[in-house]
Amino acid sequence: MTERLYYRDPTLLEFEGTITDTGQRDKVWYTVLDRSAFYPTSGGQLHDVGTLGGNRVIDVKEDGDDDQAVVEHITTERVGEPGDTVAGVVDADRRLDNQQKHTAQHIISQVFADSSGLETVSVHLGIDYGAVELDTDSVEESLLEQVESRANEIIQACYPVHVLFLSPEEAQELPLRKRPPERERLRVIRIGDLDYSACGGTHCTNTGQVGLIKLIGVETMRGHALVKFLAGRQALDDYTRRWQLTATLATTLTCHFEDLPERVSSLQQDADDCRRQLRQAQKELLPVKAERLASESQDMSGIPVAIARDNDLDPKVATQLARHAADFNKGVAIILTGGRMLIAAAKESPKTAGQLARTLCDLTGGRGGGNDTQAQVGQVDIDNEQVLGHLVAKAIDEA
Ligand SMILES: [Zn+2]
Repeated sequence: MTERLYYRDPTLLEFEGTITDTGQRDKVWYTVLDRSAFYPTSGGQLHDVGTLGGNRVIDVKEDGDDDQAVVEHITTERVGEPGDTVAGVVDADRRLDNQQKHTAQHIISQVFADSSGLETVSVHLGIDYGAVELDTDSVEESLLEQVESRANEIIQACYPVHVLFLSPEEAQELPLRKRPPERERLRVIRIGDLDYSACGGTHCTNTGQVGLIKLIGVETMRGHALVKFLAGRQALDDYTRRWQLTATLATTLTCHFEDLPERVSSLQQDADDCRRQLRQAQKELLPVKAERLASESQDMSGIPVAIARDNDLDPKVATQLARHAADFNKGVAIILTGGRMLIAAAKESPKTAGQLARTLCDLTGGRGGGNDTQAQVGQVDIDNEQVLGHLVAKAIDEA
């Protein structure tokens, strides 16, 4: 078994241990030591990272049962031979994140149990956030606010966090939050007189070190509410990012950040109004535009064909423009807008809009279709007017 140095001292980051076993598996090396300060992934908490004998530790795993389990340090290079003494250094930032997140989880679980009788059935302490799965399918917003507020009070009260090693009989005397595993010696984390929980993880030594807890949302998992949270530096980083974002938006929109929702909603209204007015103006201009377009028609195999490109037109207006132009030239009108080809054919045209669309689909690899007077082809990627003209002429011939 490996003596777990973090059990007694979660602040110990540098240590020496003797290699008891090593080998290669799946192209990486595992190294077992007689003692280690590295935390292996377990109990919902992620492993530590750092270096062992100068080699980067990319993973830390637990192998074996309970008290007899060993800790395997995974590296890409061989660390040493059995019997060698090597120095280990645990990455301080990642350890602190884990300590803050894990202590926050104990506090949050305790406050849910205390305030509403909701038990934590599983925990997730990931890279991006922590989460507790509660034995309920939903949590009221007001309860979340109450829990967050109480959890931060516990942080501000700076309760000491003790690690106790107890026999199962001694542990029975304590109000443990959850049923402990059956072991000869139990490791119990005590937060002031508020919370006792059997746990093997790395925690802060005082609730004040957690700094801050922010609940960031609830998801449903396996019919249970999963309450997600940020803690410590991660919560502060998140606050900083959000502060910068709202400050930038407030400067851009020249308002106080608290007025942002109202300002954005008024801008959306303005944009809607502008779109409506633009559509109306484009509609009123249609006959003039259509007549001009029709007057520029080219003769293609005896059919007058008007072609235009206009990416600023509303698609509905563009369809009407093609329609009107075809009525004027008594042939075909094609408008290319936003990668779409809108085709209109007058009833006098010997080639229908549908026939042209099908032929253009074959020629361009686009998709589309339509009826005798109106059709369209999507996904048309032609930026050269001459190529466009040739293509339409070919389609008129072949349709
Ligand atoms: Zn814990």
